[in-house]
Amino acid sequence: MKSRTLVFKFGDKDFEAGINRAADIIREGGTVAFPTETVYGLGADALNAEAVHKIFKAKGRPADNPLIVHIASRDQCSELAEEIPADALRLMDLFWPGPLTLILKAKDIVPDVTTGGLDTVGLRMPENPIALELIRRSERPIAAPSANTSGSPSPTTARHVIQDLEGKIDVILDGGPTEIGLESTVVDMTGDVPVILRPGHVTAENIRECVGDVRIGYKDRTLEEGEVARSPGMKYTHYSPKTSVILIEGDVEDVRKAIEEVVSECHQEGERVGLLMTEETAEFVKADEIYFLGKRDVPAQAARSIFMGLRHLDNTNLDLIVVDGTLNKEGIGAAVFNRLRKAADRIINA
Ligand code: AMP
Ligand code: MG
Repeated sequence: MKSRTLVFKFGDKDFEAGINRAADIIREGGTVAFPTETVYGLGADALNAEAVHKIFKAKGRPADNPLIVHIASRDQCSELAEEIPADALRLMDLFWPGPLTLILKAKDIVPDVTTGGLDTVGLRMPENPIALELIRRSERPIAAPSANTSGSPSPTTARHVIQDLEGKIDVILDGGPTEIGLESTVVDMTGDVPVILRPGHVTAENIRECVGDVRIGYKDRTLEEGEVARSPGMKYTHYSPKTSVILIEGDVEDVRKAIEEVVSECHQEGERVGLLMTEETAEFVKADEIYFLGKRDVPAQAARSIFMGLRHLDNTNLDLIVVDGTLNKEGIGAAVFNRLRKAADRIINA
């Protein structure tokens, strides 16, 4: 492992050379963090077990949690997956490149460390041009989970990657803040009906319109011991800052009152409280620190802001973070609530 991490920034003179350098490093079995349209990924050659092992080590990721493999062509898809069902092809036609991961039967060339020992592999063709260039120039499929320490909020800027992984990885390609801000939708295509294992920007409605039927296979909380996980990631704590997080859901008025109560209780105890708030709720509530999620009815804005906000508040010396659950739950709102509920230590239904 290198002690120094190279950073190349989009817009700087050496960025083109930086992508080439990063592609060489992927080919040589090293690790590269790169932007995608969802969040930053930490990549290595998906077919090189030793290289993929470095990702698990840098993140502190449990070995049975498989990685999504990023590809830049349909040919790469056929190299890695067999029996690609007709519905999967339809979804690829409509949503690739884009924030949709498809779980397919894996070919034997995909090492166990990449699939977490499963006989399936998660594939995605990202849309971000830097990600696509890195895959093309390295001529390798790139296994890449989010580029954060396992369990912490996902990285939506290169700065977040530096905070978590500086010195533990070889290169960071800084392409600015990511567009969507939440990880891809994960859909299991190995059964009769597609099953959503993780919600994202591509919604259940989008998938149903494309292939006729879809089931929800995820829960908005970490699974308890003994519960069967359809996706290994469901067993682990996710997205969580070190500071305690309370999410307050319910009708607008009730949530506002509950937030005020929690804040005033904390202040009586001499504790500092930070709020992750919609603009509408923030008009009424005061606290030591506020991070805005945008307007209540624009969940796409919240999607871009929640990880940034959780990280920001986690760094401002607070005793508690309170999250405003009055956001719209439609569309990508479902994915926003999935992440917020998993990040929360406690959920109050006001
Ligand atoms: P991350 O890339 O860290 O955001 O995590 C990738 C997510 O996809 C995790 O929740 C994994 O458990 C899930 N995943 C990846 N590959 C598979 C697979 N073959 N079967 C089921 N879930 C998968
Ligand atoms: Mg992750």
